[in-house]
Amino acid sequence: MKSLSVATLALAIATGAILTATTQPAEAQKKQFIAIGTGGPTGVYFVTGNAICRMIHKEAAEGRKAGRKHGIRCAAPSSGGSTYNIGQIKEGELEFGVAQSDWQYHAHNESNPDKVVPYSKLRAVFSVHPEPYQLIVAQGSGIQSFKDLKGKRVNIGNPGSGQRGTTEVLMEAHGLSTSDFALATELTSTEQAKALCDGKIDAIGYTVGVPNSGVAVATDGCDAEIVNLNTSVEEGLVEKFPYYAFSTIPKGTYKTSTADVTTFGVKATFVTSADVSDDLVYEVVRAVFENLDDFRKLHPAFANLKPEEMIQDGLTAPLHPGAEKFYKEQGWM
Ligand code: GLU
Repeated sequence: MKSLSVATLALAIATGAILTATTQPAEAQKKQFIAIGTGGPTGVYFVTGNAICRMIHKEAAEGRKAGRKHGIRCAAPSSGGSTYNIGQIKEGELEFGVAQSDWQYHAHNESNPDKVVPYSKLRAVFSVHPEPYQLIVAQGSGIQSFKDLKGKRVNIGNPGSGQRGTTEVLMEAHGLSTSDFALATELTSTEQAKALCDGKIDAIGYTVGVPNSGVAVATDGCDAEIVNLNTSVEEGLVEKFPYYAFSTIPKGTYKTSTADVTTFGVKATFVTSADVSDDLVYEVVRAVFENLDDFRKLHPAFANLKPEEMIQDGLTAPLHPGAEKFYKEQGWM
């Protein structure tokens, strides 16, 4: 009996193997797994990446009904942020990523290798929400401008985050270095608000979409405030660099937003590599734009997204040809 059951098992395995061998390849070709780099789990990039995946999966399900299968399966794990994502796209570990427009610019132009990996094959897909740079200060810290950070405990952000790079640019423009701070921490976007409310740091420099639950932990949770950044130094940055623009965080956004805050900011952009296939990028882009009404509902920062701005604003790397094909078919370019 024992030998019979082993034989039966062996036969079953062999049959299974043959069945698998004859049915699997066609199925396997249709399935394609992609990964999108985002940011910390409390940020807007995390929502962005997962919203894009959701549209891809929605399109796949509807496509199946309509007889148009694309078979793309998508994951958007949390990550270190903009410059980490660009580095991983270059390594081929990620197919797509969300990145600040300033770091897209420098990666593609290979113009700031200390802060972002030079990668001329970086390609733009579309831009998403605006990201104002926010100096968030503890209640009673006395900090009213970036210069006031001298002698304070400041979170400059984790390496790999866009906030880290942009904070360093601002520090250089103001003639400050980490040695001017009482403490420079490298906390992630998820850790920083709690550290501020726990009295461990005095200020946070953060580039993020509005509104953001992570910022609210500090503003609504322990009365932290967002400070105006509109001195001649910030004006100089906006004049000098194409990817910066002044922006406003409206009164009422957070509990402590008693007046409009003026600061400068960038755009969140969706990027990929020239090595990623045109067909894949086309399908991803189609999934997002054919479902843009649904996409807009997934975060308040997406509410005002407009195709004509998304295919142009903040994009300095060349558009990926797969994206360009879709935009041309729509008559948008
Ligand atoms: N702009 C931030 C960065 O590049 C991420 C913001 C977010 O997670 O929404 O690191």
